[in-house]
Amino acid sequence: MSAPVVIVGTGLAGYNLAREFRKLDSETPLLLITADDGRSYSKPMLSTGFGKNKDADGLSMAEPGAMAEQLKAEVRTHTRISGIDPGHKRLWIGEEAVNYRDLILAWGAETVRVPVQGDAADLIFPINDLEDYARFRAAAVGKRRVLLLGAGLIGCEFANDLSLGGYEVELVAPCEQVMPTLLHPAAAAAVQAGLESLGARFHLGPVLNRLQKVADGLEAHLSDGQVIACDLVVSAVGLRPRIDLAAAAGLVANRGVVVDRHLKTSHANIYALGDCAEVDGLNLLYVMPLMSCARALAQTLAGNPTAVSYGAMPITVKTPVCPLVVSPPPRGSEGVWSVEGLGADIKALCRDAQGNLLGYALTGTAVMEKLALNKELPALLA
Ligand SMILES: Cc1cc2nc3c(=O)[nH]c(=O)nc-3n(C[C@H](O)[C@H](O)[C@H](O)COP(=O)(O)OP(=O)(O)OC[C@H]3O[C@@H](n4cnc5c(N)ncnc54)[C@H](O)[C@@H]3O)c2cc1C
Repeated sequence: MSAPVVIVGTGLAGYNLAREFRKLDSETPLLLITADDGRSYSKPMLSTGFGKNKDADGLSMAEPGAMAEQLKAEVRTHTRISGIDPGHKRLWIGEEAVNYRDLILAWGAETVRVPVQGDAADLIFPINDLEDYARFRAAAVGKRRVLLLGAGLIGCEFANDLSLGGYEVELVAPCEQVMPTLLHPAAAAAVQAGLESLGARFHLGPVLNRLQKVADGLEAHLSDGQVIACDLVVSAVGLRPRIDLAAAAGLVANRGVVVDRHLKTSHANIYALGDCAEVDGLNLLYVMPLMSCARALAQTLAGNPTAVSYGAMPITVKTPVCPLVVSPPPRGSEGVWSVEGLGADIKALCRDAQGNLLGYALTGTAVMEKLALNKELPALLA
């Protein structure tokens, strides 16, 4: 039998690529390999599970067996690839070698871990996949107070969702505002005020130094001397594309695995997409770019070389207490911000010297203007 097309990863990138590929080619053997349980789920839903009252099983959309049937593929679960040998077109699973016709890396990003002292440091929960979420849900039963590390998009979404779920939320992050890399300060203030209206308390500036077990839970010691009593700690301090195995195999990696507009790495017959990929310099950890990549790469793998392009890709942040849509200005662009609105309803626009719209942040009722504004936004990869 000819060597299969092998996809590493059954996240949204891996499964969507497989689906798009099967629309074009129903014959070529297809093998998906994943370190996790291989269930199909939508990762963005992980930060809505408490508000929607859904546990991990409730968020799962299909078992790996059903996916295998649907995709006419083999799906190997709980299987971690340990190396790539591009010269021989094979990969390693421990001692086992698997040959490929084409190899696609869709192995995502890993959670950044912050160094924390104390006898409860290993009780910090990252939530970056369905299994993480199941572990956290199990640990949260009967608990009340959650300390959240990180004030980025994911930290804010969890703050909203856990508050809706009835938890008392304290959020700690060493930045001056929420979503510092993404959001104009006026919009950030609106989102923070919304989350505070749900009862969330913010500690912006310090970091968590030490986490200690005490009689009735945990004690979090912050770098500014504050001590916060809590029952659980969730870490949402950031994600880093997985590049180690690629770099060890000699593939060019930067922030992510470096690929061109055809999603091709520095080596023949190896491609990457999703959170692990840096596409023509852009490593975007969102679903929209990954879907565009899946469609283009499926064409290429089916024998019709196709470059990916990105239009404007605004991000809808799931903080229902203060709706937020944001489209950061493209890299390298220079613009000036103007802010209209008050309180929860902020319209912050970034324009270049000619008056062209480069980016925006819309909160509250201002999000209704997004469709009109989207038409003016520049493409991210023209
Ligand atoms: C809480 C949360 C909320 C989000 N909300 C949004 C949102 O609202 N909108 C949006 O656009 N984006 C959102 N995102 C981001 C979005 O979910 C991701 O960009 C997307 O899911 C990434 O998919 P992926 O397939 O690249 O990676 P992943 O889903 O991380 O999949 C990686 C796969 O690779 C496997 N793997 C890793 N290493 C190995 C190995 N060595 N061997 C075998 N298998 C391996 C894993 O087991 C897994 O199957 C959110 C993310 C989080 C965490």
